[in-house]
Amino acid sequence: MTLVTTKEMLKDAYANRYAIGAFGAHNLEIIKAIIAGAESVGAPVILQTTSSTYKYVGMPYMMAMAKAAAEQASVPVALHLDHGESFDTVMKCLRAGYTSVMIDGSTLPFDDNVKIVKRVVEAAAPIGIPVEAELGTIGGVEDDLIVDERLAMFTDPEMAGRFVRETGIDSLAPAFGTAHGAYKKEPDLQFDLLKEIREATDVPLVMHGASGVSEESVKRAIGIGVAKVNFSTELKDLFAEQLRRFFLEHPTENDPRKYFLPAREAVIKLVEKKIGMLQG
Ligand SMILES: [Zn+2]
Repeated sequence: MTLVTTKEMLKDAYANRYAIGAFGAHNLEIIKAIIAGAESVGAPVILQTTSSTYKYVGMPYMMAMAKAAAEQASVPVALHLDHGESFDTVMKCLRAGYTSVMIDGSTLPFDDNVKIVKRVVEAAAPIGIPVEAELGTIGGVEDDLIVDERLAMFTDPEMAGRFVRETGIDSLAPAFGTAHGAYKKEPDLQFDLLKEIREATDVPLVMHGASGVSEESVKRAIGIGVAKVNFSTELKDLFAEQLRRFFLEHPTENDPRKYFLPAREAVIKLVEKKIGMLQG
């Protein structure tokens, strides 16, 4: 199959109260692990990158890897831009062939956020590419984006309704207590607020910062209307931990065809486990 958009995936997940896993796709080994994990449980999957990832990989390589992954895979695969920081970044990804984009204007005042998101929707909708946007601020660290958790602001349901109507977005990332990066303790998620946001918006909701959120909480959020769940930190942690362990045990190994294997295997297992959590 070629890369598919996230539109049908999220629509079906939202209607039937399960969620699609979206995984940070940082390099070839991790991409192959994400696909293998999704295939083994037979679930559609979203590869997602920030702009710093495609800059690191190189856009032509990024596209070639994602397309090859989708063509080889036995499950539908989408390529999504996570936290697109500007109109230009989103356009670059649309031109390259991303099949789903997020524009993050969440640090802007409401009206400016609406304005930039609307502009992205106007560019993406005619070519059939769905748009995710964020309202409120999700705390923590995502690449170069650092939001002090004390300054993170929950999403207001009424504003969320207006935001969705005025922008025409396909999915919304609300701030209801999750944060990017690793948690020091289990976060206190605002499920009543999430429910009000769902009722006010009626579009698939996206959970950012799901690494470290308990299975019970993830399932509860899915029951309310979360249809896409983002995982990145846990994959990175596990991949790095496996590499460190391998080199401690095999300090002279120099063959990338050997030392990446245990890390890849571990990420496959983790992706299987995470997708397993999303089945409502
Ligand atoms: Zn995020």
